[in-house]
Amino acid sequence: MHSESSAGNGSGSPDVLLARLKEFHSAGRGFWSDVPDRDWNSWHWQLKNRIVSLSQLHRLMPTLSPEEYAGTQLANTKLALGITPYFFNLIDPADETCPIRRQVIPRIEETRTAPWEMTDPCGEDSHSPVPGVVHRYPDRVLFLVTDRCASYCRYCTRSRLVSNATGYDFHPDFARQIDYIRQHPEVRDVLLSGGDPLLLSDEKLDHLLRQLRAIPHVEFLRIGTRIPVFLPQRITPELCEVLRRHHPLFVSIHSNHPRELTTEAREALGRMADSGIPLGNQSVLLRDVNDQLVVMLALLQKLLMCRVKPYYLYQCDLIAGSAHLRASVRQGLEIMEGLRGHTTGYAVPQYVIDAPGGGGKVPINPDYILKRSKERVVVRNFEGKLFEYPDAMDGTPLAPAPVELEEAELV
Ligand code: SF4
Repeated sequence: MHSESSAGNGSGSPDVLLARLKEFHSAGRGFWSDVPDRDWNSWHWQLKNRIVSLSQLHRLMPTLSPEEYAGTQLANTKLALGITPYFFNLIDPADETCPIRRQVIPRIEETRTAPWEMTDPCGEDSHSPVPGVVHRYPDRVLFLVTDRCASYCRYCTRSRLVSNATGYDFHPDFARQIDYIRQHPEVRDVLLSGGDPLLLSDEKLDHLLRQLRAIPHVEFLRIGTRIPVFLPQRITPELCEVLRRHHPLFVSIHSNHPRELTTEAREALGRMADSGIPLGNQSVLLRDVNDQLVVMLALLQKLLMCRVKPYYLYQCDLIAGSAHLRASVRQGLEIMEGLRGHTTGYAVPQYVIDAPGGGGKVPINPDYILKRSKERVVVRNFEGKLFEYPDAMDGTPLAPAPVELEEAELV
């Protein structure tokens, strides 16, 4: 296995690297080659056999660096260690810069908090009228279902409650949460998240979705999940059958690196797509994980091959102890610049900053409008060519067609 966090690692031209990053592989069995198929393919077995302690991790990966060893020792006071055997097999134990490893193996840097970092960077607790409901936007709510995930991401924006390592003691009260939505007719869209909602049993999930669907003003349900990436075994035909009963229901997955899109993940996503579930992806821009154009391009193009529309690319929230994983906004903009026009529009996500303190998502784009007046806009395209589009207050074009201008004239 190789790390693709760096495009300049002697892997050849960008085209060769892109092609290699886009290959689909199975996660394989790794240390678990003796486990019967029945167990390996069982999501319950995967959860029961997660790597959750330093001793387990060190036994499987004696190559832990001193930073990782020290970070794992302290992990259970901040955000628990948890990695499914399936996802563990994607880690390259020989490469300390492995982009999969950076996402799930704690490091001592997590214990260092910069002055601008926060435990609740999106201000969710201050927008929570009822425990487990975040009502930050006018017509939609976030409905937190659980504090558990199949594996734990070291940059998790909700690490104050997820895994309960800090003693937040999140106990959702579905009856109260549902009641809040029932009493707020402006809520037309409910996003189930957590923790990971797909860790609920089929029966519990079905019951919850049915109750939400029975509220007349709830038009639309969404589930945010990283299960297809961490635990594709959970996407059973039975689960898909439950989900398809509650359309319109969209699922947003969370994938950050092309290597996460294995043949197992592709099949799991295919099962959901075959059940009529529109699939989107949310990525977090992470330093030395996906902050190079070729890596991001491979991820986005692979997502489309898995029938998933890239939806958001998040600038990493200012969560405490995440500075070592945060890429700069400048890098994010450079990546966006390298995507728009250079690949399929469907592959291009919206880059956003979740405004610190609860301001909501703010779209961030490279500047394509160079000049704007009452009568015209001057724009540049992906090749840097400049164009004028005549405009008028009442929408009537002032000239028959856009005119390509000489760069010198505009500059
Ligand atoms: S899956 Fe989502 S909620 Fe769970 S640890 Fe990762 S980012 Fe946090």
